[in-house]
Amino acid sequence: MLHRTTFDWWSPEERALAVEVNAFADSMRERNMAAMWSHDVPRDTIAELGRRGYFGAVIPQAYGGMSPGTGDATRLSIIMEALGRIPGATMAFGVGCAFHIATHGTEDQKQRWLPGLAAGTTLGAVAVTEPYAGSDAGGIATFARPTPGGYLLNGRKRYITHTGLADVYLVYAATSTDPASVKKRTHLSAFLVPADSPRLNVERLYDLGGSQYLRNGVLHFDDVFLTEDAMLGAPGDGWSVMTGGLNVERVAVACKCIGMMGESLATSWQWLRRRWQFGTSLDRLATIRARMGTALAEGISVRTTAYHAAHLLDTGAEGSGLEASAAKLLAAETALRGASTALELMGADGYSRHYPVFQIMQDLRLYQVGAGSNDVLRGLIFRLGEKRFVEILAEEPMAILPPTLTPITAEPTSNSLTDTILRLLAETYRLHPGLHMTLPDLRRRLPAVDVDSADFAEAVDTLESKEFVSVARRGSDVIGLRPTYTGLDAAHDSAYFRLIPDWATDLQ
Ligand SMILES: Cc1cc2nc3c(=O)[nH]c(=O)nc-3n(C[C@H](O)[C@H](O)[C@H](O)COP(=O)(O)OP(=O)(O)OC[C@H]3O[C@@H](n4cnc5c(N)ncnc54)[C@H](O)[C@@H]3O)c2cc1C
Repeated sequence: MLHRTTFDWWSPEERALAVEVNAFADSMRERNMAAMWSHDVPRDTIAELGRRGYFGAVIPQAYGGMSPGTGDATRLSIIMEALGRIPGATMAFGVGCAFHIATHGTEDQKQRWLPGLAAGTTLGAVAVTEPYAGSDAGGIATFARPTPGGYLLNGRKRYITHTGLADVYLVYAATSTDPASVKKRTHLSAFLVPADSPRLNVERLYDLGGSQYLRNGVLHFDDVFLTEDAMLGAPGDGWSVMTGGLNVERVAVACKCIGMMGESLATSWQWLRRRWQFGTSLDRLATIRARMGTALAEGISVRTTAYHAAHLLDTGAEGSGLEASAAKLLAAETALRGASTALELMGADGYSRHYPVFQIMQDLRLYQVGAGSNDVLRGLIFRLGEKRFVEILAEEPMAILPPTLTPITAEPTSNSLTDTILRLLAETYRLHPGLHMTLPDLRRRLPAVDVDSADFAEAVDTLESKEFVSVARRGSDVIGLRPTYTGLDAAHDSAYFRLIPDWATDLQ
C-alpha cells in the first residue's frame, strides 16, 4: 500500500518503472506465497525477473542491464520495494555481485559475467561471512595463496544466499597477514569464483526460521585453484570492493523492508474491514485505528527518508552514507514493528500461515542483522554524525546564567600560565560544574596561548602535580582538563562560586 505514493523528484522513467514492477508484483503474489509451503526456490520467478531485466537494475546498458549510469540507487530501490511485497521472489533477488563487477571488473570480466547476470540466466552470490567472522568482516580467515598461474583458495563461508544455486560467487579472501595491511584494510582481495570450480563444495544448508525459499548455507574452499584473472580489482582492493556498494545496498534494503511492511499493513487492513466483533467491523474501533494510524505514519515517513537517501546517492551528495545508513536502520526497525502491529491486529489469523503477515514478519527479522546489523549501523551512524557535525560538536553546550551572576570573562588575565589555566577552569566550573574543558575549548577561550606547545604541557603537568587539575588522556594525549576541588579552592574563595537564585530568599 505504501508503494502507491511517488515522489516529486522521481523522473518519468522512475515513475513508469514503479508502476510496471508493482503490477508485476501483484501478478506474482499467489505463486510466490505458495513457495513458502514447499521450501521451494521460485526458479520460474527468478527467470521472469531476469526476462524483465530487473536483475540488471545497476548493470550498465552496454552489458545488457538497465542502468544508463545514473539513478542506480532509486531504480534498485523501486524494484526492491515492489519485490518486497511478494516474499518468495524478492528473497531470491540479489544484485550485489553484479554491482561490484560493473564497478570494479575488467572488460573481460564484465563481458563474461554481466550479460548473464542481467538476464537472470547467471545467478550471482556474495560470500563475505565466515564461521568466525560476521560483522567484523575484516577478520575473515579464508586465504588466497599465490601459486603459479593464479591463487589457491582455502577456507569456509557461511550463511551464503544461493549456496549451491549460484553460478558465480564473489568471494572475499585474505591475501596478506601483514599487520600493517590488516590495519589499513589492504589485506583482503576479491575473487570471482565459478561455482563449478573443482574442490569447491557445499558443506551444509541452513534451515532458516524465515525466508524458507532461500538456499543458504556453508561453502568449503579446499585448495580451489583460481586463475589470475579471477581477481576483481587489484590485490588488496577487497575491502574497498566490499564496502563500495554498501550505501546503495542499504537504501535498497530499506525500501525492500518498506515494501514488506506495506504488504503486511494492506493485508491486515483488508482483514479488519471484514471482521465483525462486538457488532462492528474492527476497523471502526478507535484503538485499532490508532495503532494502524501510527504504523501508517511511521511507514510513510521512513519511506520518504529512504527514497530521499537514494536521491542523495544518485545525485552524488557528499556524505550521503549517513542518510543511507539511517534509512536502513529505521526502515528495518519500523517495518518489523509495523508488521508486528499488522499481525496482532489480525488476532489468531495473523499468527497463522494462511495469511502472508506472519511470513513477512519472520522474513523482516533478517534485516535487523543483514546488510549491516542494526547495532553496527548505530555505531556507524554515530561516527558519520560526528564527522558531519564536527563544528557544532566543538562548541561548548549553552549554559544559562541567571542575570545576577557575572558572565565569565572571555580570557582570564594573569602573569603565569598555570594561573591562567586554573582560573579559566574555575570560571568554566561556574558554567559547567560537571564537565571537562576539551582542547578546542581551551584553544577558543585562550587565543593568546598555544595549547599545543611544550610550555602549555609543562603548565598542565605542574597543575597536575599540585593536584589542582585532573587530566583526561587518550593514550598519552591530553584531551580534557577539569579543576579538582583543591584547584577550585586555590583559584577563588567560595563566594566566587556561590550561585543562589533570587527566589531562594532564605539562603541569600
Ligand atoms: C538469511 C541470511 C542470508 C544471508 N546472506 C548472506 C550472503 O549472501 N553473504 C554473506 O556474506 N553473508 C550473508 N549473511 C550473513 C550476514 O551478513 C551476517 O549474519 C551479518 O553480517 C552478521 O554477522 P553474524 O551473524 O556473524 O553476527 P555477529 O557479527 O556475530 O553479531 C552478533 C550480534 O552482535 C552484534 N554486534 C556485532 N558487532 C557489533 C558491534 N561492533 N557493535 C554492536 N553490536 C555488534 C550484532 O549486531 C549482532 O546482534 C546472511 C545471513 C542470513 C541470516
